[in-house]
Amino acid sequence: MKHIVLIGLSGSGKTTLGRMLAEETGVPVADIDAELEREAGMPIREIFERSGEPFFRDMEARAIRAAVSSENPSVIATGGGAVLRSDNVEALKGNGFLVFLDRPVELIANDLVYDKSRPLIQGAEKVYEMERRRRALYLEAADYVLKNTGGLEEALAELESLLDTMRRQMPEGCRYAVIGNPIAHTLSPAIHGAVFEAIGVSERYGAARISSRRLPRFADYARASGMRGFNVTIPHKHNIIALLDEVEEDAELCGAVNTVVIGKDGRMSGFNTDMGGLLASLRDAGVDYRGRNVLIIGAGGAARAIAFKAAREGAPEITILARRPEQAGDIASAARGLFQAVIHTGDMSPASMRAAARSADILINATPLGMSGIGADFSSLEFLEALPQSAFVCDVIYKPEETELLRAARELGHGTQNGLGMLIYQALLADELFLGRELDKPALFKHVGAAIGRPRKGKVG
Ligand code: NAP
Repeated sequence: MKHIVLIGLSGSGKTTLGRMLAEETGVPVADIDAELEREAGMPIREIFERSGEPFFRDMEARAIRAAVSSENPSVIATGGGAVLRSDNVEALKGNGFLVFLDRPVELIANDLVYDKSRPLIQGAEKVYEMERRRRALYLEAADYVLKNTGGLEEALAELESLLDTMRRQMPEGCRYAVIGNPIAHTLSPAIHGAVFEAIGVSERYGAARISSRRLPRFADYARASGMRGFNVTIPHKHNIIALLDEVEEDAELCGAVNTVVIGKDGRMSGFNTDMGGLLASLRDAGVDYRGRNVLIIGAGGAARAIAFKAAREGAPEITILARRPEQAGDIASAARGLFQAVIHTGDMSPASMRAAARSADILINATPLGMSGIGADFSSLEFLEALPQSAFVCDVIYKPEETELLRAARELGHGTQNGLGMLIYQALLADELFLGRELDKPALFKHVGAAIGRPRKGKVG
């Protein structure tokens, strides 16, 4: 059963709710009427007028068959008359779950009053007549009747819950997963899959696009479904905290959780392995925070985690520069008093960047600047010239493999490292938490690196 199929009268909300559901869940929508209009290059009304209803119904039947035979699960919004042909219903039921959007005919007629594109009296009368002719067909075809009497949001929530039940949120059998929004390009299933395979754990690790609105429902699902853990990425690292039973100190400190472990009793515990992931990756390159001044560019979730870990691990001075310096100030205020480190903050003007670079031993970019697909990069990399020759430059970005920042730093003779090492190590640390045992991280790091593309080591300055 792959598709959710919306059936019901014209005006019952199929198109609007189909689009909303697609937007909310990432499941593509196939709007049959819209596809037919595109194919014919004219409105449905005109196809009827020019070629007659039987011609239109044949077109519709073909479009329905194409939609249900699609490999990828989708939301199919059918035209109001799709149920008139029993072979359409049969085809839809073969590979779909039919939801009758039962909007009372009075409400549909009432909506017509506000729809200036349709002649009021004729439209309203037609709706009553169609309802008389088709209601029994909708009810007979439906696997589920959704009363669309309240607002769209209410109906959407019910549809989402149906979809969740149908898809069980995860590809079947995944007791581990990563959740986020967007999630399409995540490397996590490949990384955790490679780890599980290497250590003989026969668990599947999935990925689910979960919108902020659906996060609480996902948490309930994860707790009740027998999932053992999940990773959390943008934009849920902070908001998941309120849904957990306990949060370890590091994660609480930086206000971000990227790993959730679910106990057998359903208790959910939050951890932050991003902090340890970067540390482990830097150590592989022979770089340690102890006694070294750290310059962090950016002041979001990753920067906060890096700043706290660097402070905890003995960096004497930490400078945080951000385009919104007050954001850097927030991190500094939270860290002051907890650690010995002196924390400076500032903006990202060329003068500030240059001044901060002069005393930095480790420079870390924790912004998306330079990341593939975002179309934004540092306006100038001149600040690199102010770095001491022995300084190490790290980018938390791993796509592209070498950002302009890393390329320029390498050409100036600095040791460099991209974010893939951090990504792999945070996953290995998460797996240790999921499985409750220590793993041979150096060996697995190499194994995963080979499986997904070797992390760029750079030269140690
Ligand atoms: P975030 O919370 O959204 O923070 C991003 C920071 O970058 C904010 O300070 C933001 O400033 C700043 N920023 C965004 N666009 C900018 C621009 N055009 N110019 C200047 N500053 C800009 O994100 P995050 O979770 O910290 O992640 C930051 C980066 O780290 C992302 O690229 C993410 O993919 C990467 N990351 C990598 C790993 C890994 O394992 N390698 C782990 C976590 C994160 P505003 O608040 O003003 O927008």
